[in-house]
Amino acid sequence: MPQTRVQAIKRIVPIMTGWGECHREHRSGSRLPKMWWALTSKSWVRIPLLAFAIEHKDGLILFDAGMDPAIEADPNYVSSPIGRMFLKRLFRFHITPGDALGKQLAAHGFDPADVRKVVVSHLHWDHIGGIADVPQADLLVSRPEWQQLSAKNPERNWILKDHIEVPGAKWQPIDFVPNNDAILASFSEAYDVMGDGSLMVLPTPGHTPGSLSMLARSEGLPPLLFVGDLTFGVDLLMKDQVSGTGDPVMLRSSFAKVRALKKQLPDLIILPSHDDRSLDAMTTLYRRTD
Ligand SMILES: [Zn+2]
Repeated sequence: MPQTRVQAIKRIVPIMTGWGECHREHRSGSRLPKMWWALTSKSWVRIPLLAFAIEHKDGLILFDAGMDPAIEADPNYVSSPIGRMFLKRLFRFHITPGDALGKQLAAHGFDPADVRKVVVSHLHWDHIGGIADVPQADLLVSRPEWQQLSAKNPERNWILKDHIEVPGAKWQPIDFVPNNDAILASFSEAYDVMGDGSLMVLPTPGHTPGSLSMLARSEGLPPLLFVGDLTFGVDLLMKDQVSGTGDPVMLRSSFAKVRALKKQLPDLIILPSHDDRSLDAMTTLYRRTD
């Protein structure tokens, strides 16, 4: 481990921007066609809407920016009627104005104006809804994800223009570069967020074409891998069970790379964005290290 990584990260805090429910088939997959379960399922499972605040010695970094409470308040949050119909069919939300990213950061003792960078796992609305609360931050997104904006109707892929075209937003599509860190060998490419190896972004496509994960390594912490929506539960990833959305072939390829990383780092903690166990894992971690 390079010397510079020593105590690079002081603290990591899960930031809950409300919670929701999705269908069991959405979370854990189904043999039925997606359209079938999307229109008929009656089973709902709870999902938290998480982002993570990382206190790095060189500044405050976020992994994702959470949900926008406007989804509850604004009937035209999604502009197309068919999009609104699917939104209602696929999700139930429980979000209050106090769940907004800026308010949640403040509730945890952070000043939103201190956020230096947001590493965006992917461009779905529940991961970039709080961008307007941190307008000064550099917004790092993978280039394949960014290229989705050139598709005909990005809203069809749950990418809302209003969250992208925030006045002053400093979007920075990033390019992965070949990495020669033997521990990350299952990933041929990576992106070093802070230049010290403590926060390494890794391509994990599947949920969307440009989805990414981020590995945090620092003295005093077990390695942590933020995986966004690559999976809705670590148990699912370990048994190769893909969710009901996304590209199953790409998901399984990314799963295999994450499992290979876990072999390299047996104490690796994998943190999906929509799993209450991610919250529990962070609570346990700090109870252990306090
Ligand atoms: Zn999500």
